[in-house]
Amino acid sequence: MNVTELARKLNTNKDRLLKILPHYGYDIGRKAIKIDDKVAHQIIEDWGDIKKDLEKKRKKKKAERKKKKEEMKESLEEERGSAVELPEKITVQDFADELGMAVTEVISELMQNGILANKNQELDYDTASIVAEDLGYDVEQKTDQEMKEEEIEERGKIIQKVLKESDNLERRPPVIIVMGHVDHGKTKLLDTIREQNIIDTEAGGITQHIGAYEAAWKDPETDEKKNITFIDTPGHKAFTVMRSRGAKVADIAVLVVAADDGVKPQTKEAIQIMKAANLPFVVAINKIDKPDIDIQRTKTELSDEDVVPEEWGGDVPMVEISAKQKTNIDELLDMILLLSDMNEDEIKADSSMHAAGTVIESHKDPQMGAVATILVQTGTLNLGDPLIINGEDYGNVRNMWNYQGKDIETAGPSTPVRIIGFDVAPEVGDILDVSKEEAAEKVNVREKEMGQTGAQKKGVVDSGDDEEGKNTLNVLVKADVLGSMEALVGSLEEIDHEEVGIKIVGRGLGSITEDDVNKAEAVDAVIVGFNVEPTYTARKLMKEKGVDHKEYNVIYDIIDWVEGELEKLLETEKYTEKVGNLKVLAVFSTETREMTIGGRVESGKAIKGARVRVKRDGEVVGRGKIVNCQQGKKDVEEVKSGRECGLRFRGKTTIKEDDVLEFYVEKTKKKSLDLE
Ligand code: GDP
Repeated sequence: MNVTELARKLNTNKDRLLKILPHYGYDIGRKAIKIDDKVAHQIIEDWGDIKKDLEKKRKKKKAERKKKKEEMKESLEEERGSAVELPEKITVQDFADELGMAVTEVISELMQNGILANKNQELDYDTASIVAEDLGYDVEQKTDQEMKEEEIEERGKIIQKVLKESDNLERRPPVIIVMGHVDHGKTKLLDTIREQNIIDTEAGGITQHIGAYEAAWKDPETDEKKNITFIDTPGHKAFTVMRSRGAKVADIAVLVVAADDGVKPQTKEAIQIMKAANLPFVVAINKIDKPDIDIQRTKTELSDEDVVPEEWGGDVPMVEISAKQKTNIDELLDMILLLSDMNEDEIKADSSMHAAGTVIESHKDPQMGAVATILVQTGTLNLGDPLIINGEDYGNVRNMWNYQGKDIETAGPSTPVRIIGFDVAPEVGDILDVSKEEAAEKVNVREKEMGQTGAQKKGVVDSGDDEEGKNTLNVLVKADVLGSMEALVGSLEEIDHEEVGIKIVGRGLGSITEDDVNKAEAVDAVIVGFNVEPTYTARKLMKEKGVDHKEYNVIYDIIDWVEGELEKLLETEKYTEKVGNLKVLAVFSTETREMTIGGRVESGKAIKGARVRVKRDGEVVGRGKIVNCQQGKKDVEEVKSGRECGLRFRGKTTIKEDDVLEFYVEKTKKKSLDLE
């Protein structure tokens, strides 16, 4: 009987069946295709018992896991005691979760303090901390974010310092960031500028989106070309980049405000950020082609935020544009360059020094590994330069591309470059500072470390580590209905292995959305959809970010895929393989620990670099290594059976005529994943 047919009869799948059977006394290879009819019928008969036993084992494992989890939770609670950490602002619902209380209880507690709030309302830190303390909690203000910002601020100072180190400063292209409320036209504006003003139109435009691009604007009077670099991470990401303002990625901001919508929350947020960063900016009042616009009202609303147009006596330049109809884009670029001239002292760099810059984009590519876009802010980055990120050695520049996807070897100030060569993926906002002395020191340390851990450190595919230090496969699960989600998560949680594991980093119902993609990217997870598909935009985003996703409608197929992935995560096993025999015909020279000999390959092949065992009259008399192979007078990598050759042997053994050398090479093999 076919194994597939048998599996179908038993309502399982083939791979799973072949994995299970050996544990129940059926000596069937893992790759068997057919099974003897008698054996098959025996299996069918036994199947009921096998299933019962599997279920028993599964339950036992589940119980063990549950116990372990509970123990962990208890010890965590003990550690935490009654302390809570509260952020600056928290919704009533989150506050209740933080305290481990029902939201209704918290609402009534708030009422007793004279505060009427529903579960979605936000409480400030002062209010929340008073209530929490009344309830007997020790309150601490959450400082994670603050710490992170301070850290970024601190790193930003590095670049400022590096910039000031030089006395050879020259003008460089200004770096522009576009900000504003969602849907006000940031992306459209960036696209329009890119279409019209990329530097080298002959190169065929932009093939890759790398988070920034270079544009050129021609002065109509002098015909002089001036370069401008645009950070091309619109929407929320722009804010993230801007938050690393300590790094001062951008020199000038463009605040986009749609004339039909006016000042909105994110417009205000952008204004705050720009002001805090002391960033010169121009307002682009967008969508002026639309009929239902009110430019005056927009300006009034901006003035209310202390952003007063020049014609009203303020100091903020404003340009009325239509990103869609490409109206006044030149005026906007002109204004940007004017602002750049006005701030010329700040927009300088020294291209002759070592490079320093900021990571503006970072993701993991399934083929290339960590890929990041760095905006070089000063100095010149060269192929092969060490990637010193936040003072740590992350690798070397193995390859660099410009915003058009062209290979480049050097990148000067204000150039965005996509780079590979990172051992570890950097984060957006991280600082690259290739200062030479420091770099040399770091590289030394790294080489030493590499020497110690050898090959282990590189090439091990690991998506993540869990608390026990296992390599884990991170997955984010989306399913159509709750029932299938539970079944799927249940099956995934059953997968248990000493060395590798699966970590479910998120789950939800419905289509795979952009949010899922962002989340998966952040934790380096694969998205698994069960009976669901990605939305159009999510699919696009996945492609852009290199986030992997799988769609299935059979749970077993998911399990099979997971097991396959886990198998890939297993460390490799080393073993040696015999590749050939050589008969020694002559000994030409003997030195301490090295000899030159001649011989004929009798079977297989002789390989340079291979280990050898020396056999005399059938007995092993010594071991060594072949450090060189010659045929005629030429150095060769290997010699085939039947051929004569000269060899350089390294080892303690003294080889004699008529000895036989057995050649071995070291190979690696993936361990197999035996889960049952
Ligand atoms: P973002 O969220 O700020 O990046 O906004 P988008 O660039 O995605 O634009 C939002 C919507 O407004 C899209 O449908 C654009 O086509 C449209 N839009 C952008 N600029 C203009 C404009 O100048 N005129 C008109 N009529 N529509 C525009």
